[in-house]
Amino acid sequence: MLQGKTAVVTGSTSGIGLGIAKALAAQGANIVLNGFGDVEGPRAEIAALGVQVSYHGADMSKPDEIEDMVKYAQATFGSLDILINNAGIQHVARVENFPIERWDAIIAINMSSAFHATRLALPGMQAKNWGRIINVASVHGLVGSAEKSAYVAAKHGVVGLTKVVALENATTGVTCNAICPGWVLTPLVQKQVDAKAAAQGISNADATKQLLGEKEPSMQFTTPEELGALAVFFCSPAGNNVRGVAWNMDGAWAAQ
Ligand code: NAD
Repeated sequence: MLQGKTAVVTGSTSGIGLGIAKALAAQGANIVLNGFGDVEGPRAEIAALGVQVSYHGADMSKPDEIEDMVKYAQATFGSLDILINNAGIQHVARVENFPIERWDAIIAINMSSAFHATRLALPGMQAKNWGRIINVASVHGLVGSAEKSAYVAAKHGVVGLTKVVALENATTGVTCNAICPGWVLTPLVQKQVDAKAAAQGISNADATKQLLGEKEPSMQFTTPEELGALAVFFCSPAGNNVRGVAWNMDGAWAAQ
């Protein structure tokens, strides 16, 4: 379905980004990976799906590196058709103790990077009158949780940006939507499970059950594969008029 299209997936060396990159590759899209850590493993997984895969190591807190990544994708594959703004980090602390440097980093990586990548990718999409921008926000783009001020502020910001980009392009073939996962068991969340287990002297299994029990009525993690399938839907012809939504996959977290 996506043969001949090129997708840039930020933060795709791990977790949700890698899951979405694999789902788009399975539909035939060429992929530009981005993120830190092991690149060769993800690169091989995508290549095995029979598409072309490339990598750009832009630090998503740096606008000039984001610009370089967008230009690189366009130069390498001829166009950038699908942009998945996914890179993100977390820090947990009460507002009065929140390190300023962590606040600035979360706002830059989780929110401003989506603005920069979007503003740079849009002209090419508008010229072709086809494009898909998918922002991986969070259920924290819809509701708050204690000790996550920067993350919740950034994710609410991303949901707002999603609506504005959708509106500004509403009469074109360029759509913009957000995905709002609840808990997904990636390295980002494993750190929170480990911290809970250590703080309370409980097992990892008990900490996991407690984490889900506090927020997610389904008592199940959403998987990167499920999120990938939603991204594919947004890219499909059936998604042509899905614009500006913030679609939660959160086990009824935000329904409470
Ligand atoms: P993860 O830690 O597994 O992956 C994060 C990715 O972002 C990695 O590839 C990492 O290298 C990359 N990254 C981090 N900082 C970067 C930077 N400065 N520049 C470029 N890349 C950078 O985390 P994840 O759980 O897969 O999270 C992906 C997205 O999903 C994030 O935006 C996160 O907020 C969101 N999310 C996660 C959950 C969850 O439960 N895991 C829930 C809702 C939303």
